[in-house]
Amino acid sequence: MVTAGLNEKTGVIEENEHTCVYCGHEFSRARDLRRHVMIHTGETPFNCFYCDKAFNRRERLKDHCLREHEMTEEEFQAKATFAPRGRPKKKSKQ
Ligand SMILES: [Zn+2]
Ligand SMILES: [Zn+2]
Repeated sequence: MVTAGLNEKTGVIEENEHTCVYCGHEFSRARDLRRHVMIHTGETPFNCFYCDKAFNRRERLKDHCLREHEMTEEEFQAKATFAPRGRPKKKSKQ
């Protein structure tokens, strides 16, 4: 049995409440679940500065920009100032 929810400071095993509503996969951290859910929603908030590609993770976009557009890491960091996201955008019905 996995004790991912074990709090090492308190010794308390916390309830794992971060469950994916799409596949039931459980996560010990809310941020891990949020990142995972993107797989199902297809949410790709990180758009490339040069082409139409979009990525669900900043690291992926960085990888893409460095490889495909020959950006340096410094250039990427300067450009990639993504604002912290609030609630996820809903797809418009247009
Ligand atoms: Zn899932
Ligand atoms: Zn690109």
